[in-house]
Amino acid sequence: MQDSDKIISYHEMTAMENMSLQRGMVFSDGKRKYSILLMSQRKDAVYNDDFDKNGNLIYEGHDARAEGGISPKEEDQPLETPSGTWTENGKFYKAAMDFKSGLRKDPELVKVYEKIDVGVWSIKGFFQLIDVNQVSDGRRNVFKFHLKPVLTKIFNRVEDLPFNRLIPTAVKVKVWERDRGKCVLCSSMDNLHYDHDLPYAKGGTSLTEKNIRLLCATCNLKKHDKIMTFVC
Ligand SMILES: [Zn+2]
Repeated sequence: MQDSDKIISYHEMTAMENMSLQRGMVFSDGKRKYSILLMSQRKDAVYNDDFDKNGNLIYEGHDARAEGGISPKEEDQPLETPSGTWTENGKFYKAAMDFKSGLRKDPELVKVYEKIDVGVWSIKGFFQLIDVNQVSDGRRNVFKFHLKPVLTKIFNRVEDLPFNRLIPTAVKVKVWERDRGKCVLCSSMDNLHYDHDLPYAKGGTSLTEKNIRLLCATCNLKKHDKIMTFVC
């Protein structure tokens, strides 16, 4: 099972990163070797995160803090705070521009989590921040960060990831709703993950909810025991 197939609570996610993730965008500091982005493709999502046809994540920047009676959705997304320091948009923007201009050799490494439901999250995986642009959303300018999915075990070794291995966020959300947040075999709500009915290694697809279901860790072990029996 891949990390990206596990379902975790908000608490587990913040414990894993050892920090509050309320801002949703966290640029790497000296201690952490990677940045963090929280994404959502749910209907109630505050920002418009998407994937292009190459499987690259197009992540929308974040709004200014609400103050002074102006709705943040009416203002351009800011690079700087009112006191003149970089916002998280600004830090990611600078990293993307520095990579594009050759000022930095390696792109920023970014770990992405995706929201499945209120308090329910899944790891999307690691990405490289390769580009950024500013576009109008019809009312004001927003940032669009371009991130390429990568496989990374050790932080100095990054490989391209076959993106169709990853279960699309929209499929994860659909499966979660269809299976009502429970293991389809025993109704447990603990230690859940996304299971490929026909395993990916045997040609099973990740791209449709028909081949994906919720399983708990116990039922997953039983499934693997069964497969082993068939093989032996
Ligand atoms: Zn179960």
